[in-house]
This record gives sequence, C-alpha cells and structure tokens, in this order.
Amino acid sequence: MDNNAMGNDKKQSGIAYSIKQALGFYHNTPYVARYQQEANLRSSTFMSGVVILLEIWMILRNIRMNVLTGKCTSLSMFFEYTSSYWFLLLVGIVTLIYCRLLLREKMQRLRKYSEVWITVFSGICLYFGMTTSMKDFSRGRMITCFLTMTLFVACLLIWRPYISILLLSAIAYGFYQLLNNFSFDREGNALHVNAGDQINYITFFISLIMIAISIYHQRYREALKSQHLEIAAVTDELTGIPNMAHFSELAVSYLAEGEQKGIELVYLFFNIENFQTFNDRFGYSGGNDLLISMAQVIRDNFPDEPYARQSDDHFVVLTKSEGYERRVGAVRNSLKYKHKAEVYMDVKVGSYRVRDYTADPRLEVDHARYASALLKNHEEEFIREYDDQMDKDYRLRQYVLNNIDRAVKEGYIKVYYQPVVWSDDGELCGCEALARWDDPEMGFLSPGKFIPVLEECRQIHKLDKCVYEIVCRKMRECLDKDLPIFPTSLNFSRLDFELMDAVGELEKLVEKYQIPRKYLHVEITESALSDDVSRLQKSMRILREKGYSIWLDDFGSGYSSMNVLKDYKFDLLKIDMVFLKNFTGNENAHKIIKSILDLAKDLGMMTLTEGVETQEAVDFLQSAGCGRLQGYFYGKPMTYDEIYAKLQDGTYKLAEEFI
Ligand code: C2E
Ligand code: MG
Ligand code: MG
Repeated sequence: MDNNAMGNDKKQSGIAYSIKQALGFYHNTPYVARYQQEANLRSSTFMSGVVILLEIWMILRNIRMNVLTGKCTSLSMFFEYTSSYWFLLLVGIVTLIYCRLLLREKMQRLRKYSEVWITVFSGICLYFGMTTSMKDFSRGRMITCFLTMTLFVACLLIWRPYISILLLSAIAYGFYQLLNNFSFDREGNALHVNAGDQINYITFFISLIMIAISIYHQRYREALKSQHLEIAAVTDELTGIPNMAHFSELAVSYLAEGEQKGIELVYLFFNIENFQTFNDRFGYSGGNDLLISMAQVIRDNFPDEPYARQSDDHFVVLTKSEGYERRVGAVRNSLKYKHKAEVYMDVKVGSYRVRDYTADPRLEVDHARYASALLKNHEEEFIREYDDQMDKDYRLRQYVLNNIDRAVKEGYIKVYYQPVVWSDDGELCGCEALARWDDPEMGFLSPGKFIPVLEECRQIHKLDKCVYEIVCRKMRECLDKDLPIFPTSLNFSRLDFELMDAVGELEKLVEKYQIPRKYLHVEITESALSDDVSRLQKSMRILREKGYSIWLDDFGSGYSSMNVLKDYKFDLLKIDMVFLKNFTGNENAHKIIKSILDLAKDLGMMTLTEGVETQEAVDFLQSAGCGRLQGYFYGKPMTYDEIYAKLQDGTYKLAEEFI
C-alpha cells in the first residue's frame, strides 16, 4: 500500500449519492479493486470445478446410454455425440488452472487479463445453455439449461451493480426474443412462451440481478473492512500518515531504488520544540490538531517519499539529499509562523546522509534523531547534519547502552573516591564515591561520557546499584581487615527513585554487608528535585529515619535552588563549583558564597563547597564558615588504595570526628 492509498475519502450524503452508490458508480481504491478481483478468481475456480464434474458426468452418462446400449457403434460417432461436453470439459480445466495460478501473489501482474478469459468462458457456457434450451423448447420441454447457465455465469463474475443489471437484462431479453421469434415445433409451427412462464422468467431474472447486486455489495463492504484493518496496521492513528513499521517497508524499497540509480539519500528527524508548552496551553485536542497539521505539512512537502510519525511530536522522512534543506525550511516555516502569535515554537531537524543502503531504516533514523537532539536550546539553528564527531559520540553512546549490563557483571565499573576535608584543619572527614568505567575495548571512561546517556535512556539505576554495592563491599573489607574507614557519599539520580526501589536496594546492601548507616551519605543533585515532590519527600523521610545523612548536591547550578530549600529538608548543602569559577578578585562571588553559607546555617544545614582548587579559595571558605571542602586542591578522585597510601604516608590525616 503506498502513501497515497491512505488518504481519507470525503464524506458525502444525499439521495442522488445513495443511488449512485447502490448502482456502484464510485471510485474503488486499488485495495478494494484487488479484493474484488481475487473474489472473482476464487468463484471462478469453484465454478469451473463444477463444470468439470458436470461434464465428466455427462460423458459417463452418454457412455451408459449410447455406448453400452450399442447405439453408438464407433469412436468417431461417440465423439460426435459428446463433442460439446469434451469442449466444455477442456475449457473448464483451463479456467481452473488459470484462476488458481493467478491467485498466487507472484502472478498479480497477469491478473488484468483474467476478466477477459472468464468472460469468454461465460460466453461459451451461455451459448451452450442457449442452444440446448432452444432445442428443449422446440420439444416442449423447459428451458432449464439456459436458466442454469445464466445463474452459473452470474456467479462466475460479480460485476458492479449497474453492469450486472445491464448484462443480465440484455441476456434475458435476447434469449426471450430468440424463443419467441425463432422457435418452431417438429411440424414447423411457431412457438411462444406462454403468459405464466413469462412471469416466472421475469421473476427469475429480477431475483438473479438482486442476488448479483447483493453479493457485490457484501464483497465491497468486506473489502472496505479489510482495507480499514490493513490501513490501521500501517497507519499512525492520530495523523493518518504511515507508522514506523510501514515507514520501514517503504524506506527499504526507496533505498534500493536510490542505490540502483546512484542517488544520495538523507534521513530527516523532525522534533517540534516547545510542544509540551503548546499542549499545556491548548489542551490535548489542541496538541493533537498541531500534530495533524504537522503531518499534513510533511506530506505536502515530501509527497513521494517515505515519511512517518515516529512517536509523540517526532516525525521522520527519507528523501533525496539534493535541496532537502529548502523543503525542511518550508516545513519549519509553515509551523513556526502559523502558531507564532500564540506560543513560541520551532521545528528542529536532524539529518543523516545514508551511508549504508541496506541498513535497517528504523535504526538508521536514530542518527538523525541524535543530530536533532543536539539542537535543543540553540534558538538560531534549526537544522543540523550528523557529522564524524557526532558519529564517534553516537557510537560511544550505543556502546554504553549495549554494554552497561556487561560492564556491571564483568566488573568494568570502578569506584573512585574524592577526599572531603574539614575546612578548619584539613583532616579527611569523608569521600565522595564517583563512578568510572574501565572498558577493555573503549578504554577509561569518565562519568561525563556515560552518565548522561544512562540517564537519558533510563538505565542509570543499573550503574548506581553497582556503585553502592562496590562501596559497601569495600567498607566491609576495611572493617574486617581493620583498615581506615571514612564516611562515603553516594550519588543518587532522580531516576533511581523511579526506576528502582532506591531506599530498599540501599537497605539490602547495608544489611548484607552490615554497614553502620552513619558511614553512608545520600547525595541528591539539585536538578533531580523539581519533578515528583511527594515521591522524593517520602523516600528522603524514610532515609533520614533510617539514619542516613542527606546531602543536597550541586546547589546553585540549576534554576530552582531556592525552591528546593523550601520543599525539602537536607542535612548538608553542597555549594556547586560554578561559584568558584572566576573567583579571584571577584567581590560578588565572595558575597554570594557568604550569603549561601549564612542561609544554610539559618536553615540548620551543614555546608560543603565543591571545586576547591586554590589556597585563596580555601582561606576564604575557612573564614566564611564553610564546614567541609572538596576539590583538586586536596585531591582528585582516586582509588581506595591511593587514599590508603596517602593516609599511610601522612599526606592525609583521618579525622577523629566525621560529623
Ligand atoms: P558531582 O557529584 O558534582 O561530583 C563532583 C565532580 O566534580 C566530579 O566529577 C569531580 O571529579 C569533579 N571535581 C571535584 N573537585 C574538582 C575541582 O576542584 N575542579 C574540577 N574542575 N572538578 C572537580 P566526575 O567524577 O567527573 O563526576 C561528574 C558527575 O557525574 C558528578 O558530579 C555526578 O553528578 C556524576 N556522577 C559521578 N559518579 C556517579 C555515580 O556513581 N552515580 C551518579 N548517579 N552520578 C555520578
Ligand atoms: Mg555528587
Ligand atoms: Mg556535585
């Protein structure tokens, strides 16, 4: 089914329209036409089977009546008696084989000749019926053979109603004239159909016409129903354009053709920016209307190419690369400026030039999606092409997603510890556990490479669970071996509370390794806190009741810092390292940090500043009253063994008090 076969018919009504419909004056979609044709082919195989059996029976009957009784004395005489049966038998066999073959999918191209053959076959049957019945009528018998043959022919080909009416009426009228004008008895007297038989004759034909029409309409309705189901399976319900499964099919043939002709093709991924706001402002149906008009705009600009709605406000197209930017611009303009006055919105498009014409379109289009995602918050840019750098990042991203389970299982995930010190004496009062991925294939990966990907694809809980386990296991080992031990803070992603029972998982580990809860701090980043307030509040309350200390990470890095302080209760506030950027001689930075520290104190929270890199920062934070410090000045994240070595050689001194 091509894109255009799926356009919606306009609804019409009225008496004239109903009559036209009843008579079959309408345009059939290719699907319905094919359905009707197949139905006719199927009827023809059945009816030709009937003819074959009937003729065999007639030949056998002839043998019994003429050969066995000795009436027929030679083979040539036998064939003379039965020639018409042999002829019909042959035609029946040819029709049966022909129609069966044409029903095969591969033979579709030859179907256009089928109606001609079946019409010829019908003509032969009718001729046989007419001649036999003319003879019977002259002998005073009934014209059953003709009526049977007409019934038979009507069933062979179910025409549109107006054709059935014309055809069957013409046959009826023609034969009636034959009977009345050319029938004579043995004495040569002209014969006529009597009044009673005339009525029966007319009634028979009216009934036959009605049956033919009703079969046609029934098949038509079935075809529409089946077409509807088939369309539903390949169409996006809301917009009426193809869905991804259908896109994939269309794209495969489009790619094959493109490769054959040497045409460069490009995948496009359209994303409506700010669709959520539009939805909030105009409601669900307003949002739906926007998606429908977006689908129309895409259809208008890429009428002959594969296109589809992928999901939500995302659409995909596969098109020729030549001049595609102009058409993409047209799509953008019609949407962006149409709704400009109401809500700010834009269309962001990622494009990906096809490199492998045989690759799966559903996966390939993901490259274009990736390119479009990079346009987020780039107001001036609306189209971006997938390039080599993106390809590198994309491959790494795919690698991360495909291998996170293996990395966890095989122990490629490592925990590095970054020291946290008391600001007044610089003694080690804890560490932050930070994940690293040491991969045999990709090498050493820092969190920036895999954490955003895992968060975006909702896999972060797998990593975090693994980190918590490594930390707890190590602590158990230290406790057992009497090695130095210090509180460790664990990073929690917002999604951890959604994707797993974060509190339950942590508790299980604490039980399993018998870790005192005061040695574990829960770090929740500020940006994690804006979404589902009540769920997080509940988890945090349970954690605090159990005895964990809860820390607010990256304070000041997002937009909602103050709100977060209003809605949640924390034990410690971690000031983000952005405040220490361009710190030297920056009076304002000093003042801001000072007021944050005062605010935290007022709210009863302890304080820690991240990203401490210089003596100047240390001096200032000490004098401003910040409790703890963390940063490269004291040490980068390192393995437990390195920390241990530094404790041994006196670089670090373990504090006696951790709280
Ligand atoms: P974060 O939790 O704010 O961790 C602090 C980050 O700042 C660490 O980067 C650390 O290496 C870096 N850092 C510390 N002191 C300094 C400094 O003086 N200067 C500079 N320039 N950077 C400093 P890292 O290890 O690359 O981690 C980045 C982020 O990744 C973390 O930020 C955290 O949000 C996330 N992350 C790391 N490990 C995990 C984990 O196990 N689970 C989760 N959910 N997130 C993690
Ligand atoms: Mg942190
Ligand atoms: Mg932080």
